[in-house]
Amino acid sequence: MKHCIRFVTATALAAAIFTPAFAAGPVKVAATLSTFADLARTVGGDHVDVSAVASPKFNPHFIEPKPSDVLRVKRAGLFIHAGLDLEVWRGPLVDAAGNPAVRPGGAGELDVSLGIPLLEVPAHNVTRAEGDIHLFGNPHYWLNPENARRMAETIAEKLATIDPEHAADYRKNFADFSARLDAKMAEWREKMKPYAGTELVGYHNEWPYLMEFLGLKIEYFLEPKPGIPPTPKQTQFLEKYIPEKHIKAIVQASYFPTRAAQALADRTGAKLVMLCQSVGENSEAGDYIGTIDYDVNALVQALQ
Ligand SMILES: [Zn+2]
Repeated sequence: MKHCIRFVTATALAAAIFTPAFAAGPVKVAATLSTFADLARTVGGDHVDVSAVASPKFNPHFIEPKPSDVLRVKRAGLFIHAGLDLEVWRGPLVDAAGNPAVRPGGAGELDVSLGIPLLEVPAHNVTRAEGDIHLFGNPHYWLNPENARRMAETIAEKLATIDPEHAADYRKNFADFSARLDAKMAEWREKMKPYAGTELVGYHNEWPYLMEFLGLKIEYFLEPKPGIPPTPKQTQFLEKYIPEKHIKAIVQASYFPTRAAQALADRTGAKLVMLCQSVGENSEAGDYIGTIDYDVNALVQALQ
């Protein structure tokens, strides 16, 4: 018993030394995106106080953080971000916050792309000079539920390091999420089975991970390159390509203007399908599972 008490005291002492900011109250978590915030809430439960910088109603690549966001990151014990070049606004935000713990390599910094098998990693160096904003591979990886599982585990393990007192809870919450995800993944795969191999057209190249999971594919986008708005040349190409390939749906997230995709849909007979890229993008996408549920149902409705 004595030994046990000594162990607990040592652990508490270590926590007090290494994590003074979190010793009292829940761990303050600032996530760049709502989806990461949702996963942090799922595995963190009552032990975390989570907020997101970017609203899911805006393009995650281009956000202008407010002074309140800077303060959020300044006070955070854990800062969760996408890594790669998804948040082109991340560096200036972290600089402005002046919180050494959340700087790259800091004790409270977490890049959730760790361990994710990335798609579309360029074989050679690409520069932003051509407008491309997916320079290190496609950064929209959370839409494959298998990746979301890995991200949730990465967050749970990081929280266990920051707040070792509640490590068992973080791991239990992750295991519960993983089990719920397993059941839903089987359901989603079953629903999409009849449409295996179906090709769609997208607005921005942010769907390859969802397509990979669902067994669908997208080869062409209204944006000629990620981050470059639709051009007349690209639209003309798609006007021929969509009917030729009997493509039934054009998919896009709610934060892009719908005019170009709607006009293309009208001219080709394809349907414009609004999908959620992030948790909270619409009222049905209340959490991660709700978001994928919404997308799967929207796709089934468009393709059946
Ligand atoms: Zn993108």
